[in-house]
Amino acid sequence: MSPWIPLLAALAVGALAAYHRWSLRTWTIAIGATLVACLALAPAQWFATLLTTAAFAGLAVPLNHLPTRRRVISSPILRFYTRMLPQLSETEQVALEAGTVGFEGELFSGRPDWQKLLRQPAPALNAEEQAFLDGPVEEACRMTNDWEISHERADLPPELWDFLKRNRFFGMIVPKSYGGLGFSAYAHHAVVQKCASVSPTLSSTVCVPNSLGPAELLLHYGTDAQKNHYLPRLARGEEIPCFALTNPYAGSDATSIPDFGVVCRGMHEGEEVLGVRLTFDKRYITLAPVATVIGLAFRLHDPDHLLSDVGDRGITLALIPRQTPGLVVGRRHFPLNAPFQNGPVTGKDVFVPLSMLIGGETYIGQGWRMLVECLSVGRAISLPSTASGGVRLLAVATGAYARIRKQFQMPIGRFEGIEEALARIGGIGYAISALSRQTASVVDLGEKPAVPSAIAKYHATESCREAIRDAMDVHGGKGIVLGPKNYLGRGWQAAPISITVEGANILTRNMIIFGQGAVRCHPYVLAEMRAATLPDPVERLNTFDGIVFRHIGFAVSNAVRAFVLGITHSRIGSAPGERSTRRFYRKLNRYSAGLALAADTAMLVLGGKLKQKERLSARLGDVLSQLYIASSMLKRYEDQERPAADHALLAWAIHDAVFKMQVALDGVLRNFPVRPIAWLLRLMIFPIGLREKTPSDRLGHRVASLMLAPNDSMQRMAEGVFTAECPNNPVGRMLASLPKVIAAEPLERRILKAVRSGVIAGFDPVQQLDEAVRMEVLSEAERALVAEARALTAEVIAVDDFDSAELVAGREKRRLQLMHAA
Ligand SMILES: Cc1cc2nc3c(=O)[nH]c(=O)nc-3n(C[C@H](O)[C@H](O)[C@H](O)COP(=O)(O)OP(=O)(O)OC[C@H]3O[C@@H](n4cnc5c(N)ncnc54)[C@H](O)[C@@H]3O)c2cc1C
Repeated sequence: MSPWIPLLAALAVGALAAYHRWSLRTWTIAIGATLVACLALAPAQWFATLLTTAAFAGLAVPLNHLPTRRRVISSPILRFYTRMLPQLSETEQVALEAGTVGFEGELFSGRPDWQKLLRQPAPALNAEEQAFLDGPVEEACRMTNDWEISHERADLPPELWDFLKRNRFFGMIVPKSYGGLGFSAYAHHAVVQKCASVSPTLSSTVCVPNSLGPAELLLHYGTDAQKNHYLPRLARGEEIPCFALTNPYAGSDATSIPDFGVVCRGMHEGEEVLGVRLTFDKRYITLAPVATVIGLAFRLHDPDHLLSDVGDRGITLALIPRQTPGLVVGRRHFPLNAPFQNGPVTGKDVFVPLSMLIGGETYIGQGWRMLVECLSVGRAISLPSTASGGVRLLAVATGAYARIRKQFQMPIGRFEGIEEALARIGGIGYAISALSRQTASVVDLGEKPAVPSAIAKYHATESCREAIRDAMDVHGGKGIVLGPKNYLGRGWQAAPISITVEGANILTRNMIIFGQGAVRCHPYVLAEMRAATLPDPVERLNTFDGIVFRHIGFAVSNAVRAFVLGITHSRIGSAPGERSTRRFYRKLNRYSAGLALAADTAMLVLGGKLKQKERLSARLGDVLSQLYIASSMLKRYEDQERPAADHALLAWAIHDAVFKMQVALDGVLRNFPVRPIAWLLRLMIFPIGLREKTPSDRLGHRVASLMLAPNDSMQRMAEGVFTAECPNNPVGRMLASLPKVIAAEPLERRILKAVRSGVIAGFDPVQQLDEAVRMEVLSEAERALVAEARALTAEVIAVDDFDSAELVAGREKRRLQLMHAA
């Protein structure tokens, strides 16, 4: 027997312990027992066993003897840690403390507990919410003519505004006790999703009052008087709110707003009262042009100490009626031809009483915390649901169009180039609708999903932009020529709006997702940071020691798990799911371990500098994001009872997500500044190289084929979007035409064959039909079906044309109208 056996046996048992995360005590006993077994089974190797035992004891004794461990190991680590601990700004501190950690924490653990995800109840609408969706929401969609809104009116028509207000679309988040609809987050998501599928202007208008803004802020922080006054009026649409944070000099860096208020005495309703004199310059404010009440963020100063000894009181929020003297609601901005109401608001020396501060005096200086605390919920719903409505619609519409539109005597969807684009749209449709559904549903479980909402905001909007680019390519000229028949062009134009608002995407990816995710979701980092700043030195060391040792065990375990799952190419390990999906869970287990290892190493080696290494941080965030998106898809698949018809979509989207995880982790390793550490990490994370592949052409073909015909899968894809057949909805009419066009396809092939063989001699398509009947190629009924399918096809592929005068806009249009009237 080889003398190396005792050492190898001890290492193997150590690795097993690390893989399964046994405790330090179990690890010690297991290795000790292994060495005793070696001695018993191979007494001849007593010397090698003794040497291994001595080395093991040298490690195990100080680790298990707490006083020694604290003095010899933890104390120097704590000193080093305190030196490299990044200084958190107040803004970052607030951001870290707001929000909760849900399943995303598991993804950061290197060993996700899938049952925590799968046990979450499947989201569902209650009867009232479903009735609202089938009734008022469907009706609002029917009333929406996006061309009229975006080209002719530059606004929603008055009757639609009125309908939305009357049906309390602006009070979805307002509780019933205040006269609102009191909807769940999931219902809110469903309403926005459907509105977005007909018009970006409609969805933006509906989103804003229900997102981060006056109603949400009042609900959490408002005084009773403020709630009782405003909430019923907001719910009934009698007040239209907006929220003004952005200043020309403070966009992404919103905490640096130069807008200020000075505490002073002034006149209000004929009385001298204590209040604030405000000076501000806000721009890009959605709904401002029609708002009756303006939420405002500004920095409050109290130079005369009328309220307290503190001069600079920090960011504070107020709710100001539009007619307040000095407040100027400006003209309108024009956001990329999606003419929802948006514009500047300014004010100079606007005096408001303290009662107009949200939450009154109690919340002075708490404005940033209030905004950040509320942000996660609104951000989890508005833009992800908008993107979900968009991509679902793109998937069903582009599939139908690619089947109906023929070139080279074939539906264009049958060409491999188009299949590639279709598969991407389908995969994105599946992924983003699952992501949006999951992120909204955890809000109903009581989460304030700070990290998932940033993931959903970034990835839903980016993916939507990618899907619409593909959809435009598939549609060719039909997507380019604007007009009532074009259901893509305005969405294409408007895609960058979602990218920019609620935290512009580059910032969200590079700073927020991992920046917050690493600290929040990591099981130990935040606890270590807190322990390292405890005032009592003994308590500090003892607490830190406990956490840091669990952290070390966690890191060792992740290294072993990443290596083992990597070398087996995710083929082992316990995982839920059915035969075909178990491998997907295993892949996610692998990348979860890889992410945890790479993130820990990056934080350890780069410390506070990681904040400036935005590209590394972004890539680590990409891995976390793709893990979250893939988990959302698996959850949806399970919730829907594993529909076999969706398997191709799920598989495509999971392969895509896993490939993106590999690319992101590879990017981290290629660019990691300390090269020897990068090489070691590569050995652990990619021991057999980069083996993940993009979804195969065959899988892409299966997805594309699915999209070319009505079926269960496409019906699920279209769930929650507006597909009714009505004059304003070209997509609804196209979807209704699809079965007839498909039914006519074999008949068209028969005609073509007859033409090629000379049975039909004419060249005029109408005459050919007559001849086909005469020559008994088609029956009368078949001829009628072909004629109808051709007429429907003509309608689907038709584009608009205009008089020059119809395209003239703005001042020139008014001049021509006046000239005409004269
Ligand atoms: C149509 C529309 C509606 C809006 N509605 C509202 C509203 O209702 N209320 C309101 O208060 N505001 C609103 N906004 C403002 C919106 O929130 C800001 O546009 C957004 O915060 C970005 O600010 P900015 O446009 O000034 O871009 P900038 O801050 O100038 O950013 C430019 C680019 O730099 C990037 N960037 C900035 N800092 C970093 C960094 N540290 N690392 C990496 N990249 C960085 C950004 O990601 C962005 O890509 C709206 C904007 C638009 C366009």
